[in-house]
Order: sequence, then structure tokens, then C-alpha cells
Amino acid sequence: MSSDAPNTLFIGGKWVAARAGGTREIRCPADGSLVGVVDEATEEDTVAAIEAARASFDAGVWSSVPAAERGDFLLRVAAGIRDRKDEFARAESLDTGKRIVESEIDMDDIANCFDYFGKLAANEAGRMVDAGSASVVSRIVHEPVGVCTLITPWNYPLLQAAWKLAPCLAAGNSFVLKPAELTPHTAILTLKLFDELGLPAGVGNLITGAGASAGGPLSEHPDVDLVSFTGGLVTGRIIGANAAATVKKVALELGGKNPNVIFADADYDAALDNALNAAFVHSGQVCSAGARLIVESSIAERFVDDLVARTEQIRLGGPFDPDAETGPLISAAHRDKVTAYVDAGVAEGARLRCGGTWGEGELAKGYYYLPTVLDQVKRGMSVVTDEAFGPVVTVETFTTEEEAIAIANDTFYGLAGAVWSGDAGRSQRVAGKLRHGTIWINDYHPYLPQAEWGGYKQSGFGRELGPTGLAEYVETKHIYHNLEPAVTGWFNPNAS
Ligand code: NAD
Repeated sequence: MSSDAPNTLFIGGKWVAARAGGTREIRCPADGSLVGVVDEATEEDTVAAIEAARASFDAGVWSSVPAAERGDFLLRVAAGIRDRKDEFARAESLDTGKRIVESEIDMDDIANCFDYFGKLAANEAGRMVDAGSASVVSRIVHEPVGVCTLITPWNYPLLQAAWKLAPCLAAGNSFVLKPAELTPHTAILTLKLFDELGLPAGVGNLITGAGASAGGPLSEHPDVDLVSFTGGLVTGRIIGANAAATVKKVALELGGKNPNVIFADADYDAALDNALNAAFVHSGQVCSAGARLIVESSIAERFVDDLVARTEQIRLGGPFDPDAETGPLISAAHRDKVTAYVDAGVAEGARLRCGGTWGEGELAKGYYYLPTVLDQVKRGMSVVTDEAFGPVVTVETFTTEEEAIAIANDTFYGLAGAVWSGDAGRSQRVAGKLRHGTIWINDYHPYLPQAEWGGYKQSGFGRELGPTGLAEYVETKHIYHNLEPAVTGWFNPNAS
């Protein structure tokens, strides 16, 4: 352990510095203030972490712990996060710039996720199979997959990690976690908590560092059995291609371009209010953000006027500003990306109704972008097809149910979406026809740890949360036991 390095890599049960000696400053996107310094891993650190995970898995130090005890460990993690909610939430807000109240909600959700998988682990069982013979015992057993690498993004740093960590540990695997390089602090706190609560050395490993330079081996190394990735589509394609070389199990939770469909018979005030939440919570840096507003023509003019009026009133500010309703974008580079999408849309003929500029005055210290509404957009514009991942909502209109469905499905993504209507039959009908992994009816954004989450189409494959979220981390083995072994006579040396 180097004396002056931050020692933020956790490898084989020890907090260590990066072997090449690199470090990275983490700065709060709300004002550029220094949050902390972490070690910048390179490939050799990541390989060491994978080897530590492999050794612990092969020694069976966690997989041999009874499932109920593994579940109990996760329940204690949940309690630990609740006990230290203030510390965890503050760290999350400083790294991301999001409002402290949002981080507090995230910590509650994270604790609930550990609780859910803690209870599920204890109930995990294989099953007997009827082999059609009294002399055969046939059963299905569940085993951990092995060494899992868990790669997570910066928008919900610990929530996205928890969706992987909890089922991964519940099933008895060893792991290497790599949080996004911009937002490592809650992952560090969590690995410290795991260590305090007695997770055996080598079962949980942490790498802090940048994408390909630190993360490359996570999808390439032959000792990795499973890679679970949440992040952007372009990175997801690279991870999937890398993993294919050694036929790893892969789960990809990628982006979305999510439709929020409003019928004229919807509860107007609720639909309007939730359209703001859908698009602008966490300044739109949400994979399931309702960035495509699709409104029935008969109410569109009034709805969009009201939306613009409400959007212009949204107050921006830092994590601890009690008046702020949403915060900054994660980085200057990300703000440039959002700016480019809006500018391209306007250049292609979209009408800028509000926003479209950076924050000024005090806000100029951070990476603020004003909540933006674009109407008169056309399908095919990049701001309509691509994930801008910022506070930008585009407006399209429809006249029939079929047209609404066609517009909502006209995306290569398929993560989430919503339908607003007072007609339950229509809502269910439309929900059934939308090609997205989660559909909310008369609501936006809620998710439940007991309900699966994941994408259709290029939003990825695999599921997090729910029983399927645990199944991702489980191998299924059939054990067939013949209690009365007998000669088959299939190959008969005496036959003429
Ligand atoms: P990103 O793809 O740039 O990075 C995600 C993670 O991958 C980071 O930890 C990064 O360091 C790492 N990485 C990058 N290149 C890598 C490589 N070659 N090998 C290994 N690791 C590598 O994504 P981001 O900008 O951090 O996150 C935003 C994206 O995440 C958005 O597209 C968003 O929609 C998506 N997201 C999806 C979900 C979901 O549930 N589907 C949830 C949250 C975010």
C-alpha cells in the first residue's frame, strides 16, 4: 500500500494504489469543486483484480456459504446503507451534482434492492424433475456462474451497481466492479461496507479508472465468466464483441429513446406534470427519460404551451441548494454533446420553444443546460432518434391510436415508455403493442426491485431486478442419478 496514494482499488481484500501510480481528481459538476482523488487503474490492476476474484471463486469461499447466510449478508448491507444514508447520499451528490434529496431517494432504493435479493437468495432452490422412472432421481441445481465483471455508468452510480452486486452476491459469485470514472465514491464506500461486514477476501474487488484503459480486461480476460454492463450503446457493442471471443455470458443494459404517449382523454394535469418529471428529472440523464413526447393532436397546442410555461419555471442549482429542482450535466464534454444535438435539431428545422442554452451567472460555474422543448420535429432528425441524455424533450403528434403506436415504436431502442389515457382498455391495448421493456400507464419512472428491468431491441439484452435478475447470475445444472445401473446392450460385441 503506497503511503501517499488514495488506495481506492480493492483487490484480494486489500486497499491498494494503482500499479502505474496514476490518480484522478473527481470534481463536482455543479461548481467544479474538488471532491476527492482516486487511483486510476490500468489494465494490470484490472487483471490482478480478476485473478483475485478467480482465486476466491475457485476456493469456494463464498459459493460454499449457505444461500440463506449469503442472503443474511445482503440484509446487513441494506441495514448498513440505511444507517449511513447521509454519508452515502452526500458522496453520490458530490460526484454527480444531483440534488441531495434525489440521492437520498436513491439510497432508499438501493437498500430495498439489497433487501429484495437478500430474501430471494434464501428462497433460491433447484427442483426435482420427473424422469419417468422410479429408479432415477433427476434434479436441477443452481450454481453461481463464477467470476462476474460489473461495469456501471455515472448517472445513478450506486443504484446501477446495486442492481448487479446484490444478485451477483446472492447467487454466490465473485466479482470485479468498475464504476464510471467520474463517479467512484459510493462504490468505494460500498466495498468498505462489504469488507466490514465480513465478505471473504477476493470475493468483491473494485477498480477505479477509465473505460477501455482500465476496463478492457473486464470483457476480454479468459478468467471472466460473465460481464454485466450498463452504459451507452456504442460501449455496449464493444463489450459484447469482446466477450464473444471467449463466449462469456453477457448482460447489456443500454440507452433508450423513450416515448411518453398522451391521449386526449388522459388526466390533463397529471399527464402534464409527469411529462416534466419524465423529461427533466436529473436533467434528463436517465436511461428511461421520456424524451419523446407524443401527444394527440386535438390537445397538442394547449399541452405544449403549458409544458413550455412550466419548463421555463424549472429552477436549476447545486446538490445542496434548497430551491433547486434539478442540477447540472455530468461534464463539460457531455454538455457539448447535448448542445450539439439541440443545435442540429434546430438547424434541421425543429422549433426551439424554450431552453437551448447553458446556465448563466452562478450556474456558469457548473455544467448547466436549460431544460429544453423542441416541437415541429421530424422523424429521422438525430435529436429525435438518438439518446441526447440531457434535459431535452421533442414533441410529435398523432391522430389515431395506430399512429401513436407506430411513432412510439419508431426507434431502434426499446427500454421504457408511458401511455396516458382515461380509457383502461386502450391503455392496456397500447401497452401491449409497445416494443419496450417497461411500460407505465398513467405514471412515469417508478420501478420495483421485484419487477424485471431491461431493454428490447438495441436497449440491450438480459434483465436486472426481479427473479430473472437473479437468474442472470446462476448456472443451471441437471443431475441425473440412475439408482439401478444396468447394461444397455446397445453395442453388442457378440452380434453377427
Ligand atoms: P459509457 O458507455 O460511456 O460508460 C459506462 C461504463 O463503461 C463506464 O464505467 C465506463 O468507464 C465503462 N467503459 C467504457 N468503455 C469501456 C470498455 N471498452 N471496456 C470496459 N468498460 C468500459 O456510458 P455512460 O456515459 O457512463 O452512461 C450513460 C449511458 O448509460 C446512457 O446511454 C444510458 O442510457 C445508459 N444507462 C442505461 C441504463 C439501463 O438500465 N438500461 C441505466 C443507466 C444508464
